[in-house]
Amino acid sequence: MTFPPKLGYFVNQISQNMKDTFTHKGMRKKLVGVLEKKGILDKNVLAAIGRIPRHLFMDSGFVGHAYVDKAFPIAADQTISQPYTVARQTELLEVKKGDKILEIGTGSGYQAAVLLEMGVRLYTIERQNELFKKTKLFLPKLGYKPKRLIFGDGYIGLADEAPFDGIIVTAGAPYVPQPLLAQLKIGAKLVIPVGENVQIMTVFTRKSEKEFEKEEFGEFRFVPLLEDKN
Ligand code: SAH
Repeated sequence: MTFPPKLGYFVNQISQNMKDTFTHKGMRKKLVGVLEKKGILDKNVLAAIGRIPRHLFMDSGFVGHAYVDKAFPIAADQTISQPYTVARQTELLEVKKGDKILEIGTGSGYQAAVLLEMGVRLYTIERQNELFKKTKLFLPKLGYKPKRLIFGDGYIGLADEAPFDGIIVTAGAPYVPQPLLAQLKIGAKLVIPVGENVQIMTVFTRKSEKEFEKEEFGEFRFVPLLEDKN
């Protein structure tokens, strides 16, 4: 290699790193099988996970682990959620094509990609600037285009775009932020893991202006939904 290397060298490196090979596809198919065995029923969720190159959402050192059902570290001390958790939360959200959905905690953008694969209009908020910037550049490279990717505080939701057909929180909330309930359409759901060390996956369905139905779906572990923005 000559020095400095030619531009083509870098372009080639980028495309090498962005590859989705036959091996990746095979591993992904197995992961979908694992999720089915663990009880994920929604065919649209499984199909989306089957299409998304999860290894590209992780730092290269972890590529070999991308298709096991585990959470992994990403930048800024955060994690890409476990595939089962992503699948379960998405299933509970009960999205339809064209729905207007708000996600709190963009992180790596993987959950966002699952929702975009399912044809939703996505608004997503991230409070860590480093992750926000990284994911804002990365998602469109894979063809995933949220309506808005916002650097902000998920506790307050997104009043100027409300109401939503669904809201999904992908970090552990010590309590349920009231603005998120207020930003649901009638009939819409808020899927939120609630708790300090361990979280209970909780779904609120807005029955009327003032009434919400609450259902609980077992224990999960998330990184915390933080109140102060960096
Ligand atoms: N959906 C992500 C999961 C990332 S982990 C994925 O698929 O990769 C949770 C994310 O929530 C982290 O990126 C964290 O920085 C973010 N977060 C924490 N507190 C937040 C807040 N108050 N508002 C918005 N995002 C927050």
